[in-house]
Amino acid sequence: SLRTRNAVVTGSTSGIGLACARALAREGANVMLNGFGPAEQIEQARAAIEGEFGVRALHSPADMTDPEAIAGLIAQAEEALGSVDILVNNAGVQFVSPVEEFPVDKWNQIIAINLSAAFHAMRAAVPGMKRRGWGRIISTASAHSLVASPYKSAYVAAKHGLVGLTKTVALEVAAHGVTANCISPGYVWTPLVERQIPDTMKARNMTEQQVINDVLLAAQPTKQFVKVEEVAAMAVFLCSDAAAQITGANLSMDGGWTAA
Ligand code: NAD
Repeated sequence: SLRTRNAVVTGSTSGIGLACARALAREGANVMLNGFGPAEQIEQARAAIEGEFGVRALHSPADMTDPEAIAGLIAQAEEALGSVDILVNNAGVQFVSPVEEFPVDKWNQIIAINLSAAFHAMRAAVPGMKRRGWGRIISTASAHSLVASPYKSAYVAAKHGLVGLTKTVALEVAAHGVTANCISPGYVWTPLVERQIPDTMKARNMTEQQVINDVLLAAQPTKQFVKVEEVAAMAVFLCSDAAAQITGANLSMDGGWTAA
């Protein structure tokens, strides 16, 4: 049980982050949500966690491009909940373009949110974890932390970097009861992915099944999406006592993508 633990999950107003926050709360952890979206929707998700799981749930709109705001998010969680025992570095964005046309501001934004934000959050959260002698750091990387795809230079660079950063921190905190690992999903079924399907069907004159198999899941041998609940279950496992010796690992959950 995670009943005495407090968790910060960045980018948890939707998708994988929200599923991780809910799964940690189901195990009894208090959670600090973070991310953007319509205020009523965020409040509904926050209140649902408190109502369903009997834990405390807070939300911070801290912008993951802003180092001071990230330090503030950790400080706010420590102040309001008493500690940050679990940190899930999950916020992430994507932009697709050939490298020679890649907008410089998009490069900077992706490096900031997908890579540097994890540095700033770990930098702020590690001292408390070391002091208490227990901590779990989980970074949502990607199959793109292991292999590349064309036109995703910033995303692939950031995710490769996130793995290197998380491995380094794992070594630094290993003797303090703190683990740091990456989970690397392939294509995950999120509202973001679901919304692309009708447009792609029209653009390529394909059926829904053709879009899923031949476009979205072309690289994923199981021909099935990863579910957000499956990623969340891995995060919960990494927080368990049984996972105390898993550290510095990059755990793939990609339907075989990176085995090929
Ligand atoms: P999503 O778009 O559903 O969620 C992204 C979250 O990040 C949202 O809560 C959003 O508000 C938040 N966010 C975006 N910019 C932010 C900022 N500047 N400051 C704070 N929060 C911000 O996406 P998702 O699919 O759930 O992705 C979550 C993570 O999983 C990302 O790191 C992504 O790279 C990774 N991932 C996703 C997939 C996939 O197929 N969906 C696959 C592999 C890895």
